[in-house]
Amino acid sequence: MKKVVMFFLFCEIALVPFAQEVYKNDELTISKLADKTWVVETSDNTTMYILEGEKRAMLIDTGTKCAALDKIVRKITAKPLYVVVTHNHVDHAGNIRYFKEVYMHPADSIVRVTIPFNGKYIWLRDGQIFDLGNRKIEVKWMPGHTPGSIVLLDRNIHACYSGDAFGSGQVWLQLRPHVPMKTYYESCVHMEKIMEKEEITSIYCGHYPYLHRALGLQYIIDMKNLAKCISDGDNIDVKPYPYSNNVDISSKKSVFAKSGSAMIVYDSEHIN
Ligand SMILES: [Zn+2]
Ligand SMILES: [Zn+2]
Repeated sequence: MKKVVMFFLFCEIALVPFAQEVYKNDELTISKLADKTWVVETSDNTTMYILEGEKRAMLIDTGTKCAALDKIVRKITAKPLYVVVTHNHVDHAGNIRYFKEVYMHPADSIVRVTIPFNGKYIWLRDGQIFDLGNRKIEVKWMPGHTPGSIVLLDRNIHACYSGDAFGSGQVWLQLRPHVPMKTYYESCVHMEKIMEKEEITSIYCGHYPYLHRALGLQYIIDMKNLAKCISDGDNIDVKPYPYSNNVDISSKKSVFAKSGSAMIVYDSEHIN
């Protein structure tokens, strides 16, 4: 019995890629994921990514518990910095106040949040490219979790950064403002095509500490199939989801459904 447990423990360890810790304080840990690519994990399970090219760097998301985030980023890179938020939720845009300019998709300006910010929003568009110098990062609009959720493609390392558009195993669609399940299904179809065409194999999500690994194409296929079943009103197993009742923009009629590696939380009274 003990041998069996040990075997599974070994498998689990073997599957987790080695991420080398490079900085740590009471609130966060920064680890190197790949060449010139770092993940920032906060003590409250939010996530940021830092990317560096030959000329510029990018910070993806700004977390919640991270005092002096601007100075912390400077421990990793000294290059001029783009700050991009994957969507306008407080656990991703919470610390934008440390920066003068922040890139966000304009569709998320209707997400009702109170995030202090005296700087300037610069609106993103689908297909926009950030040239970091021998490393181009492309914006792909993926509405669903929020109206303006985006994914950032990083072709150099066959990866993308998905915020909560394709979250940490599960995705929350029960939030206001409501986005139809059919729209989310279309985002999944779009994402599947992009991953196949652009050879993107690793999805780094917006809450990395829950997984400590990248998601892959099968996860998007599972999400696509599940979103289609829910959107079409198929007879699937649905259970109440009480864990977001304390989130003020969450529906009190939240339910969830699972299929393969996918799980979707949604409002049973507002599907399409
Ligand atoms: Zn979110
Ligand atoms: Zn989130």
